Amino acid sequence: MSNLFLRTLREDPADAEVPSHKLLVRAGYVRRAAPGIYTWLPLGKIVLENVARVVREEMNAIGGQEVLLPALLPKEFYETTGRWEEYGDTLFRLKDRKGADYLLGPTHEELFTLLVKGEYSSYKDFPVVLYQIQEKFRDEARPRAGVLRGREFHMKDSYSFDTDDEGLQQSYDQHRAAYIRIFDRLGLDYVIVSATSGAMGGSASEEFLAVAPTGEDTFVRSTESDYAANVEAVRTPAPAEGSVEGLPEARVHHTPGTATIQTLVDFLNGAGLDRDFTEADTLKNVLVKTRAPGSKEWELLGIGLPGDREVDLKRLEAALEPTEVALLDDADFAANTFLAKGYIGPRALLDNKVRYLVDPRVATGTSWVTGADRTDHHVLDLVAGRDFTPDGTIDVAEVRDGDASPDGRGTLYTARGIEIGHIFQLGRKYTDAFKLDALGPDGKPRRVTMGSYGIGVSRAVASVVEQSHDDKGIVWPREIAPADVHVVGTGKGGEVEEALRIGGELEARGLRVLVDDRKAAPGVKFNDAELLGIPTVVIVGRGLKDGLVELRDRRTGERTDVPVGEIVESTV
Ligand code: ATP
Ligand code: MG
Ligand code: MG
Ligand code: MG
Repeated sequence: MSNLFLRTLREDPADAEVPSHKLLVRAGYVRRAAPGIYTWLPLGKIVLENVARVVREEMNAIGGQEVLLPALLPKEFYETTGRWEEYGDTLFRLKDRKGADYLLGPTHEELFTLLVKGEYSSYKDFPVVLYQIQEKFRDEARPRAGVLRGREFHMKDSYSFDTDDEGLQQSYDQHRAAYIRIFDRLGLDYVIVSATSGAMGGSASEEFLAVAPTGEDTFVRSTESDYAANVEAVRTPAPAEGSVEGLPEARVHHTPGTATIQTLVDFLNGAGLDRDFTEADTLKNVLVKTRAPGSKEWELLGIGLPGDREVDLKRLEAALEPTEVALLDDADFAANTFLAKGYIGPRALLDNKVRYLVDPRVATGTSWVTGADRTDHHVLDLVAGRDFTPDGTIDVAEVRDGDASPDGRGTLYTARGIEIGHIFQLGRKYTDAFKLDALGPDGKPRRVTMGSYGIGVSRAVASVVEQSHDDKGIVWPREIAPADVHVVGTGKGGEVEEALRIGGELEARGLRVLVDDRKAAPGVKFNDAELLGIPTVVIVGRGLKDGLVELRDRRTGERTDVPVGEIVESTV
């Protein structure tokens, strides 16, 4: 420590409100460079790398292959998927010297899809899981709490590519299991909640939330079952791509399709409505039914727009590939809107024979259900109070303690959490956009299906601190601590030299050791040891003249005197 680039602080930083922010700064793990932008100092870098190592080991264990993509990306990829617009102000945009538009990657679905498309073409190549651990950039509206919500932050993002839905389900399940191992190893207390899929698009999606009162996410959990859900998702249990419970032979599909604006405008104008549509129109929701030439089966397709947002028709580049189209009437718009807003769920769909689902989060996407009785599509018969509240609004944030759990077991209570991981079954949103196909055994191309899976690596560091600290400082779980043992030498009678010697021996036995050999008062050293939070502390001080050193457990506070000759054995 006498030459470690470390200065601890006595005072909490003025802008810090949550424990992890205060402690990581005070203990010299991170320093703020600009709002939401942080420097990792030597001990912090070690912790960050330790978290990354755990993530890497578990990703490799499920067959993930690590790559490193650029963070500086040309606009065109994100234009293809609509995300150049969709991301809004969150995207960091910049221009090169020729005036061409670039962005700093907030997440990398686009480039990974293109990467796989460039290398793989046969069904025999799949499945594949690729991942990276990289800095991500998001111009967050409210960067807060130090590295918990940064504008530049470290993420592990992985992507699975499969040729069929069963494969995707398997890749998803493997990631889910890997995430459980990762967060267990990090010593985090967390829940897994079903989630809406945000700007990612797609269907099945779960979030891992570290339980912490300072978290930004509110979730509900059941008193009696494992049920836990993000409050946003409570009323809208999104069916997984693949099947719908209670609808035999029914399947849910999600795709962005490939039509142009002009096709869409043509649908609308061909639908016999009493107005003309132009490319400049905005729509909240569009519902159409289509069928292939010669086919008896209609398919209902919809473009559901997130929440109340209206989207310019110009932005609906990726829509449908229709062959024969009818636009349903106003009532259907209403049904669609209720679905889009999540006022009704799959149950209502079944009860009302609705064969249409919309993913409320996918501006350019479509979702629909195909079933055994595919010819009939009555879309309505919604009952106020049963399928949606009479005034058409449900404030999902108002789910209260004591509400019945949707799975019928127990009651719900609310808690707060930090989103540390997020897994998605994206389906074909991105592979459709970039036309990523694999040639099947029959020689015919199949569209590849995709999952994407994120872990906030830097956020995980702070989440551990949120859960694992006391009034004196951080308490690291050994797996990610900056060292296993902190040896403190205090005194002028050879204690520091003895501390260095013991440290050397422990290191020779494979432990990671930090030795406090600074010229500083004992109190300063003890306080710093508590602040830094290394799990085991060895004090070489006053007792040394009697042949004793003190072993301290940072978590329990337990202290034991140990003969100096036995300290190495007692510690390893
Ligand atoms: P949040 O809801 O907190 O804004 P997100 O849903 O936007 O997160 P994802 O797109 O799901 O984030 O990204 C994957 C993971 O990256 C998240 O689960 C989270 O752990 C982490 N992450 C996202 N944004 C940030 C950020 N600004 N700072 C640190 N970590 C972040
Ligand atoms: Mg976000
Ligand atoms: Mg989120
Ligand atoms: Mg998320």
